[in-house]
Amino acid sequence: MTAETGAAVRVAITGAAGRMGRTLVRAVQARPECRLVAAVEHDGSPALGADAGVLAGVDALGVAVVADLAAVLPDVDVVIDFTTPEGTRRHAELCAGAGTALVVGTTGLGEDDEAALAAAAATAAVVSAPNFSVGVNLALRLVRLAAEVVGDSADIEIVEMHHRHKVDAPSGTALRMGEVVAEALERDLDGMAEHGRSGRRDARSRSTIGFHALRGGDVVGDHTVVFASEGERIEITHKASDRMTFAGGAVRAAVWAARQVPGSYGMEAVLGLD
Ligand code: NAD
Repeated sequence: MTAETGAAVRVAITGAAGRMGRTLVRAVQARPECRLVAAVEHDGSPALGADAGVLAGVDALGVAVVADLAAVLPDVDVVIDFTTPEGTRRHAELCAGAGTALVVGTTGLGEDDEAALAAAAATAAVVSAPNFSVGVNLALRLVRLAAEVVGDSADIEIVEMHHRHKVDAPSGTALRMGEVVAEALERDLDGMAEHGRSGRRDARSRSTIGFHALRGGDVVGDHTVVFASEGERIEITHKASDRMTFAGGAVRAAVWAARQVPGSYGMEAVLGLD
């Protein structure tokens, strides 16, 4: 494999014409240890046949966008997938069959999609994270610490804002922040999450985590976890202002994944925060 021989890691990007896909093309180009060898879009996409570099606003790369990931997989070391839950499930099945490493950034995954990723991890290295920014993963660590220290004596609210095109709510990152708090308090998030308070007529219960999703404009991704207790309030905030923060982290994860044995990994493992 390339990673062991020192040759560039061969990367395929699925969803190459999307907001993240185009940013990922630029992020791959920026790292000498990897090389874009395939760009994939869904069947019928107007981007099919276009040069992935031109689509991404950089020089032509000689990589035309194609609709068939299966056909290009034999020449690929790792697939980076930021598409839709259906797309991710299909790509996970293909990577599982080929034993090809997979980095998944798609959010809003359902149980079937998560099951497909878990199945793929039996034969391929699968890195999945709702947020690939280094800063968010550091913020998650701070959220865990805050929850361990003040969690039971504080009301916890998670507020996120994203651009008007985002289709899932709350964001995968907000849910991960909630999971981290719930883990620190040794509780189950499903029994604690309260999504908005419209129609409620009772006071806030301390044993809940409130989630609030704002949508508008071109906001790349803001998250705040509020720990509010009597007399003081801690707020841990992360604001992403450029998609390159996610794309750079995902490419770092891809280079790492190409060297791993099959298994299921998170961004903590990539960053050595485990
Ligand atoms: P987008 O709609 O701009 O791009 C998605 C692209 O995937 C589109 O070009 C679409 O045509 C393509 N696509 C859909 N199905 C496909 C298939 N079966 N095969 C190939 N291509 C397919 O969306 P976006 O803003 O780029 O976000 C994509 C996903 O990434 C979302 O779920 C979003 O929440 C997530 N995201 C994750 C992170 C992170 O760090 N994990 C950061 C930003 C966005």
